[in-house]
Amino acid sequence: MNIGEEEQDIVIVGGGICGLATALALHRKGIRSMVLERSESLRAAGVGIIMQPNGWRALDQLGVAPKLRQTCTEIPSGTFIKVEDGKFGESELPLGKGELRCLKRMELMSTLAEALPAESVHLGCRVVSIVTDPVTSDPVLQLHNGTLIKAKIVIGCDGMNSIISKFVGVNPPKLFSRCAARGFTYYEHGHPFGDKFRVHDACGVALGQLPVTDKLAYWFLTRSLTSQDLSDSKKDPTYIKQVSVEALKGFPEKVVEMVKNTDPKALYLTELRYRAPWDIARAKFRKGTVVVAGDALHAMCPFISQGGGASLEDAVVLARCLSEKLKQADNESGDGRKKLTEEAMDLYVKERRMRVFWLSLQTYLIGLTLDNMSKMKRVLGIAGLILMFGNQKSHTDYDCGRL
Ligand SMILES: Cc1cc2nc3c(=O)[nH]c(=O)nc-3n(C[C@H](O)[C@H](O)[C@H](O)COP(=O)(O)OP(=O)(O)OC[C@H]3O[C@@H](n4cnc5c(N)ncnc54)[C@H](O)[C@@H]3O)c2cc1C
Repeated sequence: MNIGEEEQDIVIVGGGICGLATALALHRKGIRSMVLERSESLRAAGVGIIMQPNGWRALDQLGVAPKLRQTCTEIPSGTFIKVEDGKFGESELPLGKGELRCLKRMELMSTLAEALPAESVHLGCRVVSIVTDPVTSDPVLQLHNGTLIKAKIVIGCDGMNSIISKFVGVNPPKLFSRCAARGFTYYEHGHPFGDKFRVHDACGVALGQLPVTDKLAYWFLTRSLTSQDLSDSKKDPTYIKQVSVEALKGFPEKVVEMVKNTDPKALYLTELRYRAPWDIARAKFRKGTVVVAGDALHAMCPFISQGGGASLEDAVVLARCLSEKLKQADNESGDGRKKLTEEAMDLYVKERRMRVFWLSLQTYLIGLTLDNMSKMKRVLGIAGLILMFGNQKSHTDYDCGRL
């Protein structure tokens, strides 16, 4: 993008899952938008993503589900394996009612991006600040190269450390006491895991493993966070592999081998962050004609694998609310249009708040049960989950509705 000043109708900050899905949802409603992504290429940290029935419903609305289904195996059942003193106790792992698959993140992102009109996504455009124009009260974005973009509408899809969330007044996410390693392992002659989702759980370490295709397996491992995990080591595949294998003492040989044979280019270590449920219950999420979506709205730990699915739902609901109101705004002056835009954003926030509150509460309570330091917190977590989330998978029943 050239240095200077320009005016735009709708700018989406962040070209991750949520930013691309929001641009596509708007496009399907005949509304043009511009996506600003700071990276030089589409970036898909974390290799795989579990997509549950609610996420597939949103992908169906976006029109990309049929293509994505061809890239990954359906997973009909799951097994939970308790690892104790070299013994493995198996029980059923409950899955939601409907479709569960593990997608390659990059496949998801490129499918969303390819469905957009050419030149919708502007790479290498880092937003460094956002202010309100004192005369028009429109948002003004400043890019790293000094370019100023005056927009009528800004949608912040800029992830966990969102500067747009900060602008609208949302508290930053908190650091959780655990981290997650993730990887892809390729088996030239097919993997031995079949079509099951397996979770192995030992004291303080959980390893999840799913097929993407019959030759590609995705795994994730959660364990306690150490200070070294927060240093530059987290980018070193040798370190990630070594500490992951060390954490798997006593686990079945097949899964330890899987981690040992992970492609070093497909290995990630991430500290976990979350926004407290009470922050989600009371935060505004909109300031003027600026609103947030995706992790910028509902940063949560990945214990129920819903951050990405919920981001797709955000995209569908936001585009639906905006298109309904913007249709009415066709004959309106500047102020009338702004008022209708704000009403649309408020409708979106209202519709999403309770949904993401319950998701974040469930992950928060699961987080309490994983606290090694406080028995009281663990008891509170278990009691909360039993009382409020008897059906652990009801979050997958959600339907974000038609676009
Ligand atoms: C370990 C782990 C496992 C997970 N597993 C699952 C799962 O199985 N299923 C699931 O549904 N969810 C999962 N999630 C959650 C999911 O990854 C996120 O909810 C999802 O990626 C959020 O998408 P997003 O677009 O909001 O944010 P992001 O994917 O973080 O994208 C934000 C984008 O904004 C860009 N950006 C940031 N700042 C700026 C700026 N100033 N200017 C321009 N661009 C900017 C970034 O470069 C990035 O591309 C997991 C998360 C973790 C941490």
